[in-house]
Amino acid sequence: MHRRADQGWIEVIAGPMFSGKSEELIRRVTRYHLARVPTQTFKPALDTRYAVAEVVSHSRLSTEATPVGDSAELLRTVEDRTVIVGIDEGQFFDDGLVEVAEMLAGAGKNLIIAGLDLDYLGRPFEPIPSLMLRAEYVTKSLAVCHKCGGAGLFTQRVVQSDDLVVLGATDTYEARCRRCYDPNEASQTTMDVE
Ligand code: ADP
Ligand code: MG
Ligand code: ZN
Repeated sequence: MHRRADQGWIEVIAGPMFSGKSEELIRRVTRYHLARVPTQTFKPALDTRYAVAEVVSHSRLSTEATPVGDSAELLRTVEDRTVIVGIDEGQFFDDGLVEVAEMLAGAGKNLIIAGLDLDYLGRPFEPIPSLMLRAEYVTKSLAVCHKCGGAGLFTQRVVQSDDLVVLGATDTYEARCRRCYDPNEASQTTMDVE
């Protein structure tokens, strides 16, 4: 594995759903790919929303991606020649992703990791917060609040479920600003109906 002084760092793109994290990941990875820098992009195998072997944004941009079950499988699948490692939906990985990212960056690879920094209850969504602290570059992306057009930094679940992970796109979640965000909204809506 060759190593250069100007290589080996971690970039994190964090924010709520619809904030353009996948778009930004795709943009950053694609420009290296077009310049023939060896690139690999990964996604958690559980995210099958738009495609199994692609990262697809809500605006339908896409790039090829390898689905992996966990951080150990990701590490095994990174090839020696790879310089750019893209990872989408980082919050769906185990906490081992922090160590794996640091190992890969230490070996001269540039990581670009996108993911939710907060879960639907507004709590830190590991391993993204830990990765942000270990990253050279952090981009906090914001969406447009679906209710008022303000700065959307929360992901509001608009259907009833207590599961941490409920896969979905436009009907299941909305981006909300701090004034319009209410973690109890989905359950209240359901209780009102009952
Ligand atoms: P993320 O990966 O952060 O969930 P994507 O990159 O998949 O976001 O999608 C971003 C795109 O989502 C925007 O460019 C826009 O076309 C669309 N979009 C839908 N709802 C919103 C919203 N409330 N705020 C911003 N963009 C939105
Ligand atoms: Mg995304
Ligand atoms: Zn709002």
